[in-house]
Amino acid sequence: MADRRVDNQRNNRTNTSNRRESASRAGGGQRPSVRTSGGSRPAGKSGAGLMGVLAGAVAILVVAVGVSFALTGPFSSSHSSSGAPASSPAAAAAGSAASANQKADSEGAADGNAGSQQSDTGAAAESGLSARDEAFAVDPDKTKWSFSDNGRKVVYLTIDDGPSDKTQQVLDILDKYDCKATFFVTGQDPDHYHMIKEAYDRGHTIGLHTMSHDYGQIYASTGAYFDDLDQIGQIVMDQIGYVPCFIRFPGGSSNSMAPAGMMDTLESEVQAKGYQYYDWNVSTGDGSEHTADELYGYATEGNPPGTYETNIVMLCHDSAPKQTTVDALPRIIEYYQGMGYSFEAIGRDTWVCHHG
Ligand SMILES: [Zn+2]
Repeated sequence: MADRRVDNQRNNRTNTSNRRESASRAGGGQRPSVRTSGGSRPAGKSGAGLMGVLAGAVAILVVAVGVSFALTGPFSSSHSSSGAPASSPAAAAAGSAASANQKADSEGAADGNAGSQQSDTGAAAESGLSARDEAFAVDPDKTKWSFSDNGRKVVYLTIDDGPSDKTQQVLDILDKYDCKATFFVTGQDPDHYHMIKEAYDRGHTIGLHTMSHDYGQIYASTGAYFDDLDQIGQIVMDQIGYVPCFIRFPGGSSNSMAPAGMMDTLESEVQAKGYQYYDWNVSTGDGSEHTADELYGYATEGNPPGTYETNIVMLCHDSAPKQTTVDALPRIIEYYQGMGYSFEAIGRDTWVCHHG
């Protein structure tokens, strides 16, 4: 099929770049989870108040300010300016015993898994998962999926490899244009894990991509794949209170990095466990380095060029190097909205796009 051929071309482009990403990330997974936000906050209000009250009493003021600093000390980083939970640094996956030891140093907070996610996510406290959460949580008993286009002009924008320092900008663009999207997240940037919850709170769908994004490690065996999936699942659970059913294989299901035959096995096994994987039929091409103009061109040329499916599952990335994606995104959205498309998040009833 012509469509398939083009898909594969796109996929190859992405695969090539993903290898490059992986190489450049060597060691990135070992990044310590150190939160520095709040460290630059100005002195507390108590000092200013004392200055007003004790104006003129210079000697006393000096003592008072000194005391104030001593009391307030290093300003608590638990009150982040964004209001997002400042806790939830990476959690070493309690369910992945094989890799827990390796991950413990870099990710820490392993004890946050069992209890804290409930208190961190009020909507998911106790058994009080929302209807959306219940629907989106991985469940092997839910086997109904839609394998047909719904006939509406919809772009399902899928955003891989975050969260990162680009995620906030992407979220703000999506809000500006009243778009919903799907974030297939990784565990590579613990400093931005809170953006997973931020995206969730803004109504976007959260899906699982990979903990390490290290192809050699992920596709070393089916067991290694599921260790990785379990780890990112736990990170997401810590943020939003449940493990979502939506996943994207690193490199897509038609990747050339997994050993021959492995993807067929993984495709079956993930679905047997209640997950569903999503590929794409349009790519922005941002897996490789491109200018914003080039990304806009790839994203809007049609697939095949000049033709447009009613349901478009579009691939892009919000990892740290992807500034040109951020730059191109508004124009890409405007182009499709101008053609009558809405931008919606993937749900249980969304067309399941497989490369085949
Ligand atoms: Zn990726």
